[in-house]
Amino acid sequence: MPDPSTSIRTRTTLALLTVAALLGVPGPEVRAADDWSTAPGPLEGPPRIIGKHGAACLIGAEQLPLEGIGYQTADLARRRHFGHPVLIDYIEDLGRRVANAEFGPMLVGDMAQPRGGPMSYGHVSHQSGLDVDIWFRLDLPPLDRSEREGLEQPILVDPMTGQLDRARWTEDHAKLIQLAADDPRVARIFVDAAVKEDLCSREWEDRSWLRHIRPWPAHDEHLHVRLRCPENSPECVDQPEPPPGEGCQGLVPTPRTERESLPIRTLPQACRAVLSR
Ligand SMILES: [Zn+2]
Repeated sequence: MPDPSTSIRTRTTLALLTVAALLGVPGPEVRAADDWSTAPGPLEGPPRIIGKHGAACLIGAEQLPLEGIGYQTADLARRRHFGHPVLIDYIEDLGRRVANAEFGPMLVGDMAQPRGGPMSYGHVSHQSGLDVDIWFRLDLPPLDRSEREGLEQPILVDPMTGQLDRARWTEDHAKLIQLAADDPRVARIFVDAAVKEDLCSREWEDRSWLRHIRPWPAHDEHLHVRLRCPENSPECVDQPEPPPGEGCQGLVPTPRTERESLPIRTLPQACRAVLSR
């Protein structure tokens, strides 16, 4: 698996230390991401999201059952299969639809930490319990939990040209994304521009879901689903809707470049109590 975590972690730590030094603070921000990753479990209570996707925390999270109909989780040891109950429902529904379509099981990668919050490596978002990465690996049978650590994650877009690797990309990948998008709870799905280009070129009975597929670099081995804020969550901040239309014009395949280091964002004040309780 191309594992950017080590370098990102190193760079992020350096960036955080630099900022902390500049601000003259003894580094509560430096420890912040690690603290969130070691939260013992969800904070019990009615489900409540505080903040936006890239700077948020979560009360009343649930853990996705680590395997179910049409899906299995990957990299269990990271403890990132938590989310708002609406995300758990969404993934279980999608698993059933994948099973009905007779492919899969799909591999469910990172969701959120038990109380959301920033991650010490790998993602800027995934903080509010509404994001999930679903891998483009559909070729594996149901595996034991221990076999699902550190699985290889093949890249389906040529890193030099930005073109889709036709030897690896299949009908089932396109179908998986269509199934994932065809759900009113979905706000956006991020995939590589070459993947979106392929989806746009296909015949679909209904094309309205294409609007929610947004190109994002380096999403060439997984799709990233982001759900809308659930009802009755006044502290949850949604992104604006994507522009109208299919978004199929002007797609520019971008070669895979090194990911940028993670920006530091300030969590809502109310999140302090979520971590300390
Ligand atoms: Zn993601």
